Amino acid sequence: MQTRKMVYRHTILLLGLVFFTSCATTTPKSDDSLGRLVVGFDIDDTILYSEDNFLAVPPNPANPGHLDYAWVNSHDSVYSKVITDMAKLVHFFRAQGHSVYFITARPGVNGEYLARFLTRELGFPIVMDKNLFFSPKERDPKTGIRHTVKHRLIRELGIHVFYGDSDTDIVAALVGDAHPVRVVRDPKSLHAYSRNHFGDIISESSVANPFTVDDYRKFILAGVGPYGETIFPLYHFEEPLPGFETEE
Ligand SMILES: [Mg+2]
Repeated sequence: MQTRKMVYRHTILLLGLVFFTSCATTTPKSDDSLGRLVVGFDIDDTILYSEDNFLAVPPNPANPGHLDYAWVNSHDSVYSKVITDMAKLVHFFRAQGHSVYFITARPGVNGEYLARFLTRELGFPIVMDKNLFFSPKERDPKTGIRHTVKHRLIRELGIHVFYGDSDTDIVAALVGDAHPVRVVRDPKSLHAYSRNHFGDIISESSVANPFTVDDYRKFILAGVGPYGETIFPLYHFEEPLPGFETEE
């Protein structure tokens, strides 16, 4: 009797598992019956040149060593600039009836200020948790490495193409089943903040950072990045790359 009960229980569990698995694998991308694209954009160094905002952040005595994102999110209107060519791309997609979402790894505290700034600069309503999402990285408890979780939103929103400047944007797009497009960083950002980017010109060469400046130039000129992503060449690098002349 006991054995039969266990068999029933296992059968029900198995059926439940099959049901959930089939739901997960058959969920369609959002309204693909009309051939409409869902396009995602990162914020920093993709839509916004925000380096000056990050450089202006005051010390955070409440949490030393951690950026005060309440301050960052409420000061884009003072220090950040929309990257004109990316704004054109956003308007290009919207004008053709495609949907546009923004996903940033910034924490969402005071996120409504960023939404208001983007609304004003881009000229259409951008609302937190509607078309602007905050998705901070999460730490793997085993390795201690902080990983992107943007792929969860990329999947949930049914994003087909995702534009971002960081390695983690490309990883998120690939894991989330979207086509990854690398937005080439402004050289000033690359010099000030180049971690999490294959053109890391600050950290020493290592297994985790094997690409030289010359490799970086080759990738950009070839239009493909190390993850197989497409390159969106906002900035046109001549040879040698501006600002890189001292590197050899
Ligand atoms: Mg970025």
